[in-house]
Amino acid sequence: TRMMSADLQIEDTDIESSIRPITLEEYIGQSAIKENLSIFIQAAKLRNEALDHVLLYGPPGLGKTTLAGVIAHEMGVKIKVTAGPAIEKPGDIAAILNNLQPGDLLFIDEIHRMPRQVEEVLYSAMEDYHIDIVVGKGPTAKSIRLSLPPFTLVGATTRAGMLSSPLRDRFGIVQRLEYYSLEELGQIIQRTASLLEVECTSEGAMEIAKCSRGTPRLANRLLKRVRDIVWIKYEGHINQETALEALKLLNIDTYGLDEIDRRILNTIAYQFKGGPVGLETLAATIGEERETLEDVYEPYLMQQGLLQRTPRGRMLTDAAKILIKMPPELNN
Ligand code: ATP
Repeated sequence: TRMMSADLQIEDTDIESSIRPITLEEYIGQSAIKENLSIFIQAAKLRNEALDHVLLYGPPGLGKTTLAGVIAHEMGVKIKVTAGPAIEKPGDIAAILNNLQPGDLLFIDEIHRMPRQVEEVLYSAMEDYHIDIVVGKGPTAKSIRLSLPPFTLVGATTRAGMLSSPLRDRFGIVQRLEYYSLEELGQIIQRTASLLEVECTSEGAMEIAKCSRGTPRLANRLLKRVRDIVWIKYEGHINQETALEALKLLNIDTYGLDEIDRRILNTIAYQFKGGPVGLETLAATIGEERETLEDVYEPYLMQQGLLQRTPRGRMLTDAAKILIKMPPELNN
Protein backbone atom coordinates (compact mmCIF):
# COMPACT_ATOMS: atom_id res chain seq x y z
CA THR A 1 0.00 0.00 0.00
CA ARG A 2 2.62 2.49 1.08
CA MET A 3 4.59 1.77 -2.00
CA MET A 4 1.82 2.88 -4.32
CA SER A 5 1.11 6.10 -2.47
CA ALA A 6 2.32 9.20 -4.28
CA ASP A 7 3.22 10.82 -0.95
CA LEU A 8 6.87 11.47 -0.25
CA GLN A 9 8.40 8.70 1.85
CA ILE A 10 11.73 8.30 3.60
CA GLU A 11 12.97 5.79 1.05
CA ASP A 12 12.47 8.31 -1.73
CA THR A 13 14.95 10.71 -0.23
CA ASP A 14 18.03 8.48 -0.18
CA ILE A 15 18.68 8.62 -3.89
CA GLU A 16 16.83 11.87 -4.37
CA SER A 17 19.76 14.20 -4.85
CA SER A 18 21.48 11.96 -7.39
CA ILE A 19 18.48 11.59 -9.70
CA ARG A 20 16.82 14.99 -9.56
CA PRO A 21 16.88 16.84 -12.87
CA ILE A 22 18.72 20.16 -12.52
CA THR A 23 18.07 21.92 -15.83
CA LEU A 24 14.88 22.54 -17.81
CA GLU A 25 16.30 20.34 -20.53
CA GLU A 26 16.72 17.39 -18.17
CA TYR A 27 13.20 17.87 -16.81
CA ILE A 28 11.08 15.46 -18.83
CA GLY A 29 7.48 16.18 -19.95
CA GLN A 30 5.24 19.11 -18.90
CA SER A 31 6.24 20.66 -22.21
CA ALA A 32 3.73 23.55 -22.14
CA ILE A 33 4.92 24.62 -18.69
CA LYS A 34 8.56 24.32 -19.68
CA GLU A 35 8.05 26.42 -22.78
CA ASN A 36 6.30 29.19 -20.82
CA LEU A 37 8.84 29.15 -18.02
CA SER A 38 11.77 29.24 -20.38
CA ILE A 39 10.42 32.43 -21.99
CA PHE A 40 9.67 34.12 -18.65
CA ILE A 41 13.08 33.14 -17.30
CA GLN A 42 14.91 34.51 -20.34
CA ALA A 43 12.94 37.75 -20.17
CA ALA A 44 13.58 38.21 -16.44
CA LYS A 45 17.30 37.58 -16.94
CA LEU A 46 17.50 40.08 -19.81
CA ARG A 47 15.77 42.69 -17.68
CA ASN A 48 18.00 41.75 -14.77
CA GLU A 49 14.97 41.33 -12.54
CA ALA A 50 13.71 38.61 -10.25
CA LEU A 51 11.33 36.18 -11.96
CA ASP A 52 7.65 36.87 -11.30
CA HIS A 53 6.08 34.74 -8.53
CA VAL A 54 5.11 31.24 -9.68
CA LEU A 55 2.25 29.05 -8.45
CA LEU A 56 2.53 25.35 -9.33
CA TYR A 57 -0.46 23.14 -8.69
CA GLY A 58 -1.45 19.54 -9.33
CA PRO A 59 -1.50 16.11 -7.63
CA PRO A 60 1.41 15.05 -5.38
CA GLY A 61 4.60 13.55 -6.77
CA LEU A 62 4.46 15.22 -10.20
CA GLY A 63 7.68 17.12 -9.65
CA LYS A 64 6.68 20.52 -8.29
CA THR A 65 9.60 20.62 -5.87
CA THR A 66 11.93 19.44 -8.60
CA LEU A 67 10.65 22.13 -10.95
CA ALA A 68 11.20 24.84 -8.32
CA GLY A 69 14.84 23.72 -8.11
CA VAL A 70 15.11 23.77 -11.89
CA ILE A 71 13.75 27.33 -12.03
CA ALA A 72 16.32 28.48 -9.43
CA HIS A 73 19.10 26.81 -11.40
CA GLU A 74 18.01 28.39 -14.69
CA MET A 75 17.73 31.82 -13.04
CA GLY A 76 21.18 31.30 -11.46
CA VAL A 77 19.84 32.00 -7.95
CA LYS A 78 19.72 30.20 -4.61
CA ILE A 79 16.63 28.34 -3.43
CA LYS A 80 15.25 28.30 0.12
CA VAL A 81 12.72 25.56 0.81
CA THR A 82 9.96 25.59 3.38
CA ALA A 83 6.37 24.38 3.74
CA GLY A 84 3.09 26.04 4.69
CA PRO A 85 2.50 24.07 7.90
CA ALA A 86 6.03 24.89 9.14
CA ILE A 87 5.39 28.63 9.12
CA GLU A 88 3.26 29.21 12.19
CA LYS A 89 3.50 32.91 13.01
CA PRO A 90 3.92 36.17 11.08
CA GLY A 91 7.34 36.45 12.76
CA ASP A 92 8.43 33.15 11.15
CA ILE A 93 7.73 34.32 7.63
CA ALA A 94 9.20 37.77 8.39
CA ALA A 95 12.45 36.10 9.46
CA ILE A 96 12.55 33.92 6.34
CA LEU A 97 11.90 36.87 4.03
CA ASN A 98 14.38 39.07 5.83
CA ASN A 99 17.14 36.52 5.25
CA LEU A 100 16.70 36.38 1.48
CA GLN A 101 19.45 37.64 -0.81
CA PRO A 102 18.58 39.66 -3.92
CA GLY A 103 17.03 37.39 -6.57
CA ASP A 104 16.65 34.38 -4.23
CA LEU A 105 13.85 31.89 -4.83
CA LEU A 106 11.67 31.01 -1.87
CA PHE A 107 9.81 27.72 -2.33
CA ILE A 108 6.77 27.15 -0.12
CA ASP A 109 5.29 23.66 -0.46
CA GLU A 110 1.66 23.16 0.61
CA ILE A 111 1.24 26.90 0.49
CA HIS A 112 -2.51 26.55 1.09
CA ARG A 113 -1.76 25.41 4.64
CA MET A 114 -0.36 28.71 5.95
CA PRO A 115 -2.25 30.49 8.73
CA ARG A 116 -4.15 33.56 7.58
CA GLN A 117 -1.93 36.10 9.40
CA VAL A 118 1.17 34.59 7.80
CA GLU A 119 -0.47 34.83 4.42
CA GLU A 120 -1.20 38.50 4.98
CA VAL A 121 2.48 39.25 5.53
CA LEU A 122 3.16 37.77 2.11
CA TYR A 123 0.80 40.15 0.28
CA SER A 124 3.01 43.24 0.54
CA ALA A 125 6.18 41.15 0.32
CA MET A 126 5.06 39.74 -3.02
CA GLU A 127 3.60 42.95 -4.32
CA ASP A 128 6.33 45.45 -3.68
CA TYR A 129 8.98 43.75 -1.59
CA HIS A 130 8.30 45.13 1.84
CA ILE A 131 6.73 43.95 5.08
CA ASP A 132 5.18 45.88 7.94
CA ILE A 133 6.08 44.57 11.36
CA VAL A 134 4.10 45.59 14.41
CA VAL A 135 6.30 46.19 17.45
CA GLY A 136 4.81 46.45 20.94
CA LYS A 137 1.22 46.14 22.04
CA GLY A 138 -1.81 48.32 22.67
CA PRO A 139 -1.71 52.11 22.20
CA THR A 140 2.10 52.21 22.01
CA ALA A 141 2.27 49.62 19.22
CA LYS A 142 4.20 50.86 16.20
CA SER A 143 4.37 49.56 12.69
CA ILE A 144 7.84 49.41 11.17
CA ARG A 145 8.33 49.02 7.44
CA LEU A 146 11.08 46.68 6.35
CA SER A 147 12.31 46.63 2.74
CA LEU A 148 13.12 43.28 1.19
CA PRO A 149 15.39 42.44 -1.72
CA PRO A 150 13.62 41.44 -4.94
CA PHE A 151 12.84 37.72 -4.72
CA THR A 152 10.70 35.07 -6.40
CA LEU A 153 8.12 33.12 -4.46
CA VAL A 154 7.32 29.69 -5.88
CA GLY A 155 4.29 28.16 -4.19
CA ALA A 156 3.09 24.57 -4.60
CA THR A 157 -0.34 23.19 -3.81
CA THR A 158 -2.50 20.26 -4.82
CA ARG A 159 -5.27 22.59 -5.91
CA ALA A 160 -5.19 26.27 -6.86
CA GLY A 161 -8.78 26.65 -5.64
CA MET A 162 -7.65 26.01 -2.07
CA LEU A 163 -5.72 29.29 -2.01
CA SER A 164 -7.44 32.47 -0.90
CA SER A 165 -7.99 34.73 -3.87
CA PRO A 166 -5.82 37.64 -2.59
CA LEU A 167 -2.88 35.25 -2.41
CA ARG A 168 -3.61 33.55 -5.72
CA ASP A 169 -3.93 36.90 -7.49
CA ARG A 170 -0.40 37.85 -6.48
CA PHE A 171 1.17 35.08 -8.55
CA GLY A 172 2.08 36.34 -12.03
CA ILE A 173 2.67 32.83 -13.37
CA VAL A 174 0.20 30.04 -12.55
CA GLN A 175 0.88 26.59 -13.98
CA ARG A 176 -0.92 23.30 -13.56
CA LEU A 177 1.15 20.11 -13.68
CA GLU A 178 -0.39 17.18 -15.54
CA TYR A 179 -0.01 13.45 -15.08
CA TYR A 180 2.84 12.16 -17.24
CA SER A 181 2.26 10.07 -20.36
CA LEU A 182 3.57 6.51 -20.57
CA GLU A 183 6.32 7.61 -22.95
CA GLU A 184 7.43 10.36 -20.60
CA LEU A 185 7.40 8.01 -17.61
CA GLY A 186 9.39 5.51 -19.66
CA GLN A 187 12.00 8.21 -20.35
CA ILE A 188 12.13 9.18 -16.67
CA ILE A 189 12.61 5.52 -15.67
CA GLN A 190 15.38 5.03 -18.20
CA ARG A 191 17.07 8.23 -17.10
CA THR A 192 16.93 7.17 -13.45
CA ALA A 193 18.09 3.64 -14.33
CA SER A 194 21.16 4.97 -16.09
CA LEU A 195 21.97 7.28 -13.15
CA LEU A 196 21.63 4.28 -10.81
CA GLU A 197 23.74 2.24 -13.24
CA VAL A 198 21.01 -0.34 -13.76
CA GLU A 199 20.55 -1.84 -17.21
CA CYS A 200 16.95 -1.35 -18.33
CA THR A 201 15.55 -1.81 -21.83
CA SER A 202 12.89 0.56 -23.14
CA GLU A 203 10.34 -2.30 -23.07
CA GLY A 204 11.18 -2.98 -19.44
CA ALA A 205 10.84 0.73 -18.62
CA MET A 206 7.41 0.79 -20.32
CA GLU A 207 6.13 -2.05 -18.14
CA ILE A 208 7.13 -0.12 -15.03
CA ALA A 209 5.67 3.09 -16.53
CA LYS A 210 2.28 1.43 -16.95
CA CYS A 211 2.10 0.82 -13.21
CA SER A 212 3.29 4.27 -12.17
CA ARG A 213 0.03 6.19 -11.88
CA GLY A 214 1.28 8.94 -14.17
CA THR A 215 3.63 9.97 -11.34
CA PRO A 216 7.46 10.20 -11.55
CA ARG A 217 7.89 9.70 -7.82
CA LEU A 218 6.11 6.35 -8.07
CA ALA A 219 7.93 5.41 -11.26
CA ASN A 220 11.29 5.89 -9.55
CA ARG A 221 10.17 3.99 -6.47
CA LEU A 222 8.89 1.05 -8.53
CA LEU A 223 12.09 1.02 -10.54
CA LYS A 224 14.10 0.56 -7.35
CA ARG A 225 11.93 -2.35 -6.20
CA VAL A 226 11.99 -4.01 -9.60
CA ARG A 227 15.76 -3.55 -9.77
CA ASP A 228 16.18 -5.35 -6.43
CA ILE A 229 13.98 -8.28 -7.43
CA VAL A 230 15.52 -8.63 -10.86
CA TRP A 231 19.00 -8.42 -9.42
CA ILE A 232 18.44 -11.06 -6.70
CA LYS A 233 16.17 -13.43 -8.59
CA TYR A 234 17.45 -13.22 -12.12
CA GLU A 235 20.92 -11.78 -11.63
CA GLY A 236 20.18 -9.83 -14.74
CA HIS A 237 19.01 -6.58 -16.18
CA ILE A 238 15.52 -5.19 -16.49
CA ASN A 239 13.72 -6.13 -19.68
CA GLN A 240 10.06 -6.67 -20.48
CA GLU A 241 10.02 -10.22 -19.15
CA THR A 242 11.88 -9.62 -15.88
CA ALA A 243 9.99 -6.37 -15.24
CA LEU A 244 6.65 -8.16 -15.64
CA GLU A 245 7.75 -10.94 -13.29
CA ALA A 246 8.91 -8.47 -10.68
CA LEU A 247 5.73 -6.38 -10.90
CA LYS A 248 3.70 -9.55 -10.49
CA LEU A 249 5.66 -10.43 -7.37
CA LEU A 250 5.03 -6.92 -6.07
CA ASN A 251 1.30 -7.47 -6.68
CA ILE A 252 0.89 -4.28 -8.69
CA ASP A 253 -1.69 -4.02 -11.44
CA THR A 254 -1.22 -2.16 -14.68
CA TYR A 255 -3.52 0.63 -13.55
CA GLY A 256 -1.08 1.32 -10.71
CA LEU A 257 -3.97 1.50 -8.25
CA ASP A 258 -3.20 1.81 -4.56
CA GLU A 259 -5.27 0.54 -1.68
CA ILE A 260 -7.36 3.67 -1.38
CA ASP A 261 -8.13 3.72 -5.11
CA ARG A 262 -9.37 0.16 -4.75
CA ARG A 263 -11.35 1.01 -1.66
CA ILE A 264 -13.06 3.86 -3.54
CA LEU A 265 -13.99 1.59 -6.43
CA ASN A 266 -15.15 -1.25 -4.17
CA THR A 267 -17.18 1.06 -1.93
CA ILE A 268 -19.02 2.54 -4.89
CA ALA A 269 -19.62 -0.97 -6.26
CA TYR A 270 -20.69 -2.80 -3.14
CA GLN A 271 -22.28 -0.10 -0.99
CA PHE A 272 -23.75 2.11 -3.69
CA LYS A 273 -24.36 -0.40 -6.47
CA GLY A 274 -21.95 1.29 -8.84
CA GLY A 275 -23.20 4.81 -8.03
CA PRO A 276 -24.11 7.56 -8.33
CA VAL A 277 -22.96 8.56 -4.87
CA GLY A 278 -22.21 12.07 -3.60
CA LEU A 279 -18.62 13.00 -2.78
CA GLU A 280 -19.39 13.78 0.89
CA THR A 281 -21.05 10.42 1.44
CA LEU A 282 -18.25 8.60 -0.33
CA ALA A 283 -15.59 10.42 1.71
CA ALA A 284 -17.39 9.65 4.97
CA THR A 285 -17.83 5.98 4.07
CA ILE A 286 -14.18 5.55 3.14
CA GLY A 287 -12.88 7.65 6.02
CA GLU A 288 -10.82 10.00 3.88
CA GLU A 289 -11.06 13.75 3.66
CA ARG A 290 -13.22 15.09 0.90
CA GLU A 291 -10.38 17.29 -0.41
CA THR A 292 -7.99 14.34 -0.57
CA LEU A 293 -10.48 12.33 -2.58
CA GLU A 294 -11.12 15.23 -4.91
CA ASP A 295 -7.51 16.34 -5.42
CA VAL A 296 -5.48 13.17 -5.19
CA TYR A 297 -7.60 10.14 -6.04
CA GLU A 298 -10.40 11.24 -8.34
CA PRO A 299 -8.25 12.95 -10.97
CA TYR A 300 -6.28 9.77 -11.53
CA LEU A 301 -9.29 7.44 -11.51
CA MET A 302 -11.04 9.70 -14.00
CA GLN A 303 -7.97 9.97 -16.20
CA GLN A 304 -7.84 6.17 -16.27
CA GLY A 305 -11.49 6.01 -17.32
CA LEU A 306 -12.55 4.18 -14.16
CA LEU A 307 -14.65 6.89 -12.52
CA GLN A 308 -17.18 9.36 -13.87
CA ARG A 309 -18.42 12.61 -12.39
CA THR A 310 -22.12 13.13 -13.05
CA PRO A 311 -24.51 15.79 -11.72
CA ARG A 312 -25.96 13.13 -9.41
CA GLY A 313 -22.62 11.99 -8.04
CA ARG A 314 -19.70 9.68 -8.74
CA MET A 315 -20.21 6.53 -10.80
CA LEU A 316 -18.10 3.58 -11.81
CA THR A 317 -17.47 3.11 -15.52
CA ASP A 318 -17.88 -0.28 -17.17
CA ALA A 319 -14.10 -0.62 -17.26
CA ALA A 320 -13.99 -0.22 -13.47
CA LYS A 321 -16.74 -2.81 -12.99
CA ILE A 322 -14.78 -5.27 -15.06
CA LEU A 323 -11.53 -4.46 -13.26
CA ILE A 324 -12.92 -5.10 -9.78
CA LYS A 325 -15.13 -7.94 -11.02
CA MET A 326 -18.35 -6.37 -9.76
CA PRO A 327 -21.15 -8.96 -9.88
CA PRO A 328 -23.68 -7.81 -12.54
CA GLU A 329 -26.65 -8.43 -10.21
CA LEU A 330 -25.38 -5.58 -7.99
CA ASN A 331 -25.95 -2.99 -10.73
CA ASN A 332 -28.45 -0.23 -10.05
P1 ATP B 1 5.13 17.36 -5.52
O1 ATP B 1 4.59 17.65 -6.88
O2 ATP B 1 4.28 16.59 -4.59
O3 ATP B 1 5.89 18.52 -4.90
P2 ATP B 1 7.57 16.68 -5.89
O4 ATP B 1 7.82 17.87 -6.74
O5 ATP B 1 8.11 16.68 -4.49
O6 ATP B 1 6.12 16.34 -5.88
P3 ATP B 1 9.52 15.30 -6.60
O7 ATP B 1 9.92 14.73 -5.28
O8 ATP B 1 10.11 16.56 -7.06
O9 ATP B 1 8.06 15.48 -6.60
O10 ATP B 1 9.66 14.25 -7.74
C1 ATP B 1 9.86 12.95 -7.42
C2 ATP B 1 11.04 12.44 -8.17
O11 ATP B 1 10.68 12.27 -9.51
C3 ATP B 1 12.22 13.37 -8.17
O12 ATP B 1 13.20 12.83 -7.38
C4 ATP B 1 12.75 13.42 -9.57
O13 ATP B 1 13.90 12.65 -9.65
C5 ATP B 1 11.69 12.74 -10.39
N1 ATP B 1 11.07 13.65 -11.31
C6 ATP B 1 10.02 14.44 -11.06
N2 ATP B 1 9.67 15.11 -12.14
C7 ATP B 1 10.53 14.76 -13.10
C8 ATP B 1 10.65 15.12 -14.46
N3 ATP B 1 9.82 15.97 -15.05
N4 ATP B 1 11.65 14.58 -15.16
C9 ATP B 1 12.49 13.72 -14.59
N5 ATP B 1 12.41 13.31 -13.31
C10 ATP B 1 11.43 13.83 -12.57
